[in-house]
Amino acid sequence: MLKKKWAQHLLIASGVIKKLIKFAEIKPDEVIVEIGPGTGNLTKELLNTPLKTLYLIEIDPKMINYLKKNIKDKRVVFINADATKFDFSSLKEKNLKLIGNLPYNVASLIIENTVMYKNYIPCAFYMVQKEVAERLIDEKSWLSIFVKTFYEIKYLMSVPAKFFIPPPKVISAFIKLERKDFKKSFNLKEYKNFLTKLFSQKRKMIKHKIDETYLKKSGISGEKRVEELELKDFLYLYSIFQKLK
Ligand code: SAH
Repeated sequence: MLKKKWAQHLLIASGVIKKLIKFAEIKPDEVIVEIGPGTGNLTKELLNTPLKTLYLIEIDPKMINYLKKNIKDKRVVFINADATKFDFSSLKEKNLKLIGNLPYNVASLIIENTVMYKNYIPCAFYMVQKEVAERLIDEKSWLSIFVKTFYEIKYLMSVPAKFFIPPPKVISAFIKLERKDFKKSFNLKEYKNFLTKLFSQKRKMIKHKIDETYLKKSGISGEKRVEELELKDFLYLYSIFQKLK
């Protein structure tokens, strides 16, 4: 029985699954984490690659039991947990490659949590709602800036609803997050607060949302609206904020 509350839409087209796996370019000895394996359609195909370890993070205990019965492979580690809050540092692995046909109702939270553990995750491949992918890539929001600070987001392909059971009401998209070579140290919780504050009440001029001393020092006009700022402006403002706070 598939559950709506956990957005269970299983990918059934083996051609599509093969394509996703190809995009992920899994090499021998790689440690892979699959988010929301469900009944294991993607999982089984992942196990045809030379990966070293495959962690499965699934919130539904029934699915975990089903998977344990059906997948007998020494490389698999079953974890019954919530991927929006999962502590990826607990796996004690430095270079995790994440992949998943995400539950669409919490896809943004899973992406946010991915960034929170960016030091362990050089790369992630996610199936999300097409609109979410496009907004992340083309629009400015606190989350898109948060992600783009640390990752390059690539749109890999669109996937029509008919390839899922039950078919979702939306078109899907497979995206890749590729970590940038970013050396500066960020307090991620603080950076998130900084961005959400700037993005609150988007039409308001930024001088009403951030202390003018920071703006003066940056040379960025306080009369601007948040959407007029570029990624580099956010980075610059935040670095000044870090120094002066
Ligand atoms: N990968 C499978 C299933 C995708 S559906 C396939 O393609 O066929 C999304 C899966 O994510 C479901 O199995 C659902 O139970 C699981 N899920 C939902 N919310 C989750 C969460 N917060 N953390 C981990 N898994 C979750």
